[in-house]
Amino acid sequence: MTPGNSVPRLRHSRPLAFTPGRWMQQVVRLVPAVAVLTVFAFLARGRFRSFDGLSWADAVAFGVLLLGGALVIVRRVRRSMSGAPMMLRDELEFGGSLLAAAFIVVALGGELLFPVVYLLMAFLVTFLSRPAAGTLLGVSVLFDALLTLPERWGVFAGRTTFLVLFAGLYHVVLSARLAAARRAEDDAVKNKVKELEERARTFRLVSSGASDSMPGVKDQEKWLVAAVKEIEGATGSALEVAETALHTHSVAVFLLTSDDRSLKLHDCRSTSEQIQRERFAAGEGIFGALLKRGVPVRMNGSSGLKGVTHYELGGPGVCAILAVPIVEGGGLVRGVLVADRLENKPFNEEDERLLQVIAGEVLRAIEVERVMSYIRRSRDEKDRFFRAIEELNRAGSPDQVFLAVLESARQVAPLEFCAVTLVSEVNGNRAHRIMRMSGVTSAGRALENQTFPDNNGLVANVVRYGAPLPGRDAGAMDRQIIFDDDTQIRGLQSLKIFPLVAGDRILGTLVTGSRKKAAFDNDELRMLEVIAIQAAQAVLRAQLFEAMEKMATTDGLTGLFNHRTFQGRFDEQLATARRYSRKLSFILTDIDHFKSVNDTYGHPMGDQVLKGVARILKEQARDTDIVARYGGEEFAIIMPETDVKGAHIIAERIRERIEKEVFQTDQGPLKVTLSLGIATFPDVAAEKHQLIDLADQCLYFAKRHGRNQTVTVGQMQANKPRAVEG
Ligand code: GH3
Ligand code: MG
Ligand code: MG
Repeated sequence: MTPGNSVPRLRHSRPLAFTPGRWMQQVVRLVPAVAVLTVFAFLARGRFRSFDGLSWADAVAFGVLLLGGALVIVRRVRRSMSGAPMMLRDELEFGGSLLAAAFIVVALGGELLFPVVYLLMAFLVTFLSRPAAGTLLGVSVLFDALLTLPERWGVFAGRTTFLVLFAGLYHVVLSARLAAARRAEDDAVKNKVKELEERARTFRLVSSGASDSMPGVKDQEKWLVAAVKEIEGATGSALEVAETALHTHSVAVFLLTSDDRSLKLHDCRSTSEQIQRERFAAGEGIFGALLKRGVPVRMNGSSGLKGVTHYELGGPGVCAILAVPIVEGGGLVRGVLVADRLENKPFNEEDERLLQVIAGEVLRAIEVERVMSYIRRSRDEKDRFFRAIEELNRAGSPDQVFLAVLESARQVAPLEFCAVTLVSEVNGNRAHRIMRMSGVTSAGRALENQTFPDNNGLVANVVRYGAPLPGRDAGAMDRQIIFDDDTQIRGLQSLKIFPLVAGDRILGTLVTGSRKKAAFDNDELRMLEVIAIQAAQAVLRAQLFEAMEKMATTDGLTGLFNHRTFQGRFDEQLATARRYSRKLSFILTDIDHFKSVNDTYGHPMGDQVLKGVARILKEQARDTDIVARYGGEEFAIIMPETDVKGAHIIAERIRERIEKEVFQTDQGPLKVTLSLGIATFPDVAAEKHQLIDLADQCLYFAKRHGRNQTVTVGQMQANKPRAVEG
């Protein structure tokens, strides 16, 4: 259906053509006027004085008068059904017929019946327009003068007075009632407008940034929320004004969708439940023509209008419609404001002007709504963003940081895939590790803790160049390698990888992706970028913190726990052993003749030996054992849930392993031996210092008895050192 042929013709576009039918119509059209004039002429000549004296001409004239009256009535009914207003000629013919009939009644029935004319005049004044009623009043006065003057001045004066009085009185009463009704209507409209203005004022108050008058941020927030609510109601208020002023069945705003192909209901005031709420074709029906030309449309028809598209199928039959385009400053049509009536009461030009004003109001309300929703959205975004940053800054350990990064990124953008990678450099070889990720890969396999070498993938390139990639939304993500060949991420339509830059260092990347095309707008990308910067700082901080913690707890030379940590751990383990009545063994070791190692090979070589011994101790001990540098070339091992037998086996294993170890030096190979003392809880003592002291005594015992041996408290007390050769 094209807009052109579907739209009913406008009222003024009826063509005029003089056909025989039209000539006939013109003749018929003259009948009422001719009949009225004839009857008045007959009356003036003294006819219709009595029933007996009625001639055939009188009868014909009366008949034609009745016919004329009937024709006028028929025409009037037809015209009113099509919504056309009554014309002066119609009114004069109609009133004239009645007046002529009334004068015939007076002529036939006697002058006592003259009040019939008064009543008729009151009736005419009530229902006809002022010019028509005035003319008819003049006609009746003139005619009466013709009948009475010059003989009966008194009668004429009396009748005329009464006629004017009746007509005037009725006119006054009627105008007063009309004025009252109009005033009530005006008041209703004014009230609505005032309401609307008040709402607008509320908004201006807030938008003008009158923060001085708003004591606290919280209050300001409340004002803003209230204002938004008011503004959201502004379209509704404008429609209410239209509804009240125009007495509509429905008044509705339909806005064009972004592709301009459809219209969608924005807001309406309707007595009908059947207003079209789904989107519908914009190019069809009455609206199609309106949108095409961008001009208002006003139509009516008694049997319901065609081309009405703003109701569901089977909606009410609309007989009068007024629709105006909603046009932006630049001439861009945004939608339609439509008002309709079910009764055939056409809209006039004044209605059209009013609806156009309201369309302007609606446009403003829509604009404001759009701005407000943008403000609200960006405010929510900012809230989320700052919360995300806060969360990032609270995170302590690297693990917490990675989790917080993913969480923050997901809060500011609609991500379906997100990962943090870190880069490390070992012996000049760069490698990347996926520290944390959310979302799944095509294989549904989590990639956490996977490492991959430096390659030509996007992550490696982001680290290499320190700039986000890819530059724009890549259409076919499937072909892009994010991490490495083995870990393909399929189904992502949007992807952005940000470098984690801290100062001049690039620590890794933040990978963000979505299944939707162009999923991130500029604001979101900017926020992700800032999150990446914050994330880098947080990662660096966490790494430094971790390193510091390590430094505080471990020995710098050997990497074993330091003495302070050893003491703490010993307390903890003893407490556990006590609570669960478990055994715990403690080994104290000392390298034999270490002074001479330093003296012969130098202190640095001595350090190498210390490192080597520490490594062997760590290797030979079990995962649950706690190995520490006790001091100098003395080491300690705390062995939870281990009796003296178990401890002795491990101690011997260590001793034998060290005995075998050959350290290469400038002056040839070097070997060292170890002496070990064992004290077991609760067998020999219950307190830490007693256990340490006993182990130390065992060690001293071992030294005294030839070194390179393990001595338990039992052996020491039995005075049975192991015999050692050499
Ligand atoms: P003994 O068999 O009786 O244990 O004889 P010893 O020579 O090992 O005697 P002692 O245990 O008293 O000697 C400790 C030596 O260890 C003294 C010190 O020079 C050396 N030493 C302590 N800490 C370090 C260190 O960090 N590096 C190096 N190279 N030597 C250290
Ligand atoms: Mg020593
Ligand atoms: Mg020693």
